[in-house]
Amino acid sequence: MTTENTKSAEKPAPKKVFQADPATLGIDWTDGVESRLNVRMLRQKCPCAQCIDEWTGEKRLDPDSVAETIRPLKVHNVGLYAIQIHWSDGHDTGLYSHDYLRKLVG
Ligand SMILES: [Zn+2]
Repeated sequence: MTTENTKSAEKPAPKKVFQADPATLGIDWTDGVESRLNVRMLRQKCPCAQCIDEWTGEKRLDPDSVAETIRPLKVHNVGLYAIQIHWSDGHDTGLYSHDYLRKLVG
């Protein structure tokens, strides 16, 4: 096993999470990727058990019920694999794993 292999196996992590503009959350990753995510889309895609049925993967959250004015109030790191977002609608149970966030970017 070489050092190079070990390095390439490392997963990208958010280097910086910030409000790019009122409706956009910016995430700069350790591998140089710069994500710009619409905050309403992020809220609609909250992966927690209240918003998505854990067993069936079925959506419990009506996307239309998310206000246009939804804003992240606080974002913090959870371990080395996820971020947690506290939303202006009081919802804060969603853990957005780094893998999940990268998938949202496409
Ligand atoms: Zn949720």
